[in-house]
Amino acid sequence: MATLRLILGDQLNHRHSWFKERDDEVIYVLMEVLSETGYVRHHLQKVVGFFLAMRAFSEQLQAQGHRVHYLRLDDPGNRQSIVLNCEALIERYGVTLFQYQEPDEWRLDQALRGFCLGFSVTSSMVSSEHFLTTRNTLADLFRGKKGYLMETFYREMRRRHQILMEPDGVTPLTGRWNYDAENRKKMPKSVVLPPIPRFIRKVEEIIVLLDRMQVQTIGQLDSERFDWPLTRAEALKTLEHFIQYRLAAFGMYQDAMTQRDWLLFHSRLSFCLNTKLLHPMEVVEACVSYWAANAEQVDFAGVEGFVRQIVGWREYMRGVYWARMPEYAGLNFFGHKAPLPSWYWTGKTQMNCLQHSIKQSLEHAYAHHIQRLMVTGNFALLLGADPDQVDEWYLGIYMDAVEWVEITNTRGMSQFADGGIVGTKPYVSSANYIHKMGDYCENCTYKRDLKYGKGSCPFNSLYWDFYHRSRSLLERNPRIGMMYKVWDKMAEKEQKAILAQAEMYKQQIESL
Ligand code: FAD
Ligand code: SF4
Repeated sequence: MATLRLILGDQLNHRHSWFKERDDEVIYVLMEVLSETGYVRHHLQKVVGFFLAMRAFSEQLQAQGHRVHYLRLDDPGNRQSIVLNCEALIERYGVTLFQYQEPDEWRLDQALRGFCLGFSVTSSMVSSEHFLTTRNTLADLFRGKKGYLMETFYREMRRRHQILMEPDGVTPLTGRWNYDAENRKKMPKSVVLPPIPRFIRKVEEIIVLLDRMQVQTIGQLDSERFDWPLTRAEALKTLEHFIQYRLAAFGMYQDAMTQRDWLLFHSRLSFCLNTKLLHPMEVVEACVSYWAANAEQVDFAGVEGFVRQIVGWREYMRGVYWARMPEYAGLNFFGHKAPLPSWYWTGKTQMNCLQHSIKQSLEHAYAHHIQRLMVTGNFALLLGADPDQVDEWYLGIYMDAVEWVEITNTRGMSQFADGGIVGTKPYVSSANYIHKMGDYCENCTYKRDLKYGKGSCPFNSLYWDFYHRSRSLLERNPRIGMMYKVWDKMAEKEQKAILAQAEMYKQQIESL
């Protein structure tokens, strides 16, 4: 009468009710498989991080007395596919009940549903007990409406979970819901950046294993100094460290960029959240409690800004994913087809903002939100890159990249390939914004104030080229109309020079 319970690599939830009781009839299974390392080319740190976090989770379960079957990548019995391994284990242990937690990826959800339908063993899917919403909460909230507004969803979440609310339960603390305007400062050079929490470990053995198993990866990893938080204890330390050293300035410099550092005041919690080592509510509660006890040092705007990311954006993206998959993965509103330049995989470009953001991503498997949105994402959209290729890049390169949150951010927020499901207008900018929010332009080969001509910043001409070529799709958008007025007021000679410059840069894209 054995039960087999599958735990996927992003389901490392120590608080799950499954683990409250020990039962010798229950076998937990975790597995390293080539089907998961191979569906996209992942960053080496990401593969190492997921496998080591899974191994640590399995060891902890065993230490608590649970029965665990852990399949390493090179185990002789490993069939290198989640469903094939489950099939073999069901037979091996004489399993009568197969259980799994709801997968967060549509692909795995379909695979496991199909597997269960075609198998005689009784099966059930249970909640992963991680999110603050169900898969359908967002779709239900906006049923019958034209679209989904993140701000409406976020306010509803604050009310439902009584986060930062007045005692009446309906008014936000301070009377204001949104502090975005306060949370957009450039970071002065005088600001001292806090230390980054590190959990150094040697990872030679697993690198050798990946090599032997011919796992294709991207990015770099120093085998002596791999430092991502991979256990529950390390995740909690990362959270504490963020609250102590970064929370106070998080909001203020949330959109800032600098060559001086790669983390700034961001939390680096996305991997711990996405693997479920941390629960979103415990992160929010820890931040809110700290602010309540230290309101003189910690700005309310910053705490609101952080809470917004976790209970707003993160849950919202998951809701959009489940409301719109699988069609979402094929949306291409602009019909963009250009290949992503090869330097996205090397960082070898003279454009300083892109060079720094890409090299940092290859080195740390991390870039903060504004680097992803307003540097790499912005450029890909201005260029007209194929969203499939853009998605593949983002899904591979970041430590936190799992499809439900990657694709909605990339195809939706960043590339506007969903035509406005996630965002109300495309996030594009010329060099103006990049200069306003950061220090990249100071050391760049290109000149940020030139729209065309020798040395002109490619973002500038490509920006106008984007609006020009997308006119029929964007002109009626009330948030964009203004841009067309500016363009129309430009002298025809200038417009021609800008478009010719953009064309030239597109032709020379590999050498920019
Ligand atoms: P912080 O800036 O400290 O923010 C705190 C937390 O808020 C994050 O850990 C994350 O859980 C949540 N959060 C913040 N912004 C978002 C957002 N837009 N959507 C969902 N959650 C958010 N995030 C991922 O977790 N995985 C991805 O694959 C991913 N791909 C992205 C691709 C693009 C093109 C863009 C523009 C954004 C992407 N994001 C992704 C969202 C965001 O950039 C990252 O969550 C964030 O940079 C992670 O770093 P952090 O933990 O230091 O975040
Ligand atoms: Fe980037 Fe242009 Fe600034 Fe150079 S000048 S850093 S390419 S925005």
